[in-house]
Amino acid sequence: MKEEFNNSSADPASNAATQAARDEARLDVIKTRIASVMEGESVVTFLEMNNVKIELLSDPINWAASTLTITTVRDGEYFYKDPKILLKRDLTDDNLLQAIVHETGHLNQHLSKVGNPDRILSEREYILFYRAAEADAQALCTEVTWALKQAGDAGPWNAACNAGYKDICDAYEMMVTADPSSIENGTAKRIAFDTWFSKPERLAGYNEATADNMIPFLAKGREIFKNHNMVEKPLDNTWVEKLDSASAKSYLLEVGNRSLLRDPYYSENTQLRPAPKKVAANNNTPAAPGDTPNPPVMANPF
Ligand SMILES: [Zn+2]
Repeated sequence: MKEEFNNSSADPASNAATQAARDEARLDVIKTRIASVMEGESVVTFLEMNNVKIELLSDPINWAASTLTITTVRDGEYFYKDPKILLKRDLTDDNLLQAIVHETGHLNQHLSKVGNPDRILSEREYILFYRAAEADAQALCTEVTWALKQAGDAGPWNAACNAGYKDICDAYEMMVTADPSSIENGTAKRIAFDTWFSKPERLAGYNEATADNMIPFLAKGREIFKNHNMVEKPLDNTWVEKLDSASAKSYLLEVGNRSLLRDPYYSENTQLRPAPKKVAANNNTPAAPGDTPNPPVMANPF
């Protein structure tokens, strides 16, 4: 047995421990801010009830992502363990906060059994499915960060606007300013959800993420879990009902004039893809956090 004192910053184990303690303290402050408004309380309760691990990483592929491990798939139902949120450490606290809320939205979808489709879909419907998941996660983020802004903590709202969601922030703000009761009755959250679908660049990014990543990923999963019993069926109202009931308050069924299943607004432009990236010596500006298309689940064992 060997013991020694080592206060040197060159000791990697002690550095890692110090970093972990610093990260945890930082995340605790952020979670306290989220929970300080009613809309955010359920977010933090969800994180605690489901033991969601939040990790700050120096160089992740995406600035923000959530992951779960799929343990099995049976009759269209996915079973998971180890929900995690992975974030880039050098984001500001405001940015981390808004990203944590968005990613919690995704984890909640998965644990509410509406994170992956319970059937085999056409490419068009897979795209609609994952668009709706993104719009729902960002609508939650908009709702929580607006409540914080109203309570005097505007940083996360501004961070969300700057992360590529200004159109959604503006639509939400216009709605709640014109009609404050729209927060309570769900129409403001619905306008945030609907606005998600209005930006072609956003659709292009998520079209690509779904067609190139998620569809092959799920097909591989069905191969691995031979007992999946998943069948080809179009999306129907059970999906909308599940997505709606995953939300703390209903906003997709009775609210708004558009039908998620029938209005082409939600499912058009599936052919859009991002413009090829320009390679230039000075083009090293990273993508905005929260605006990077992430597959909603990246899981082992596939
Ligand atoms: Zn997302």
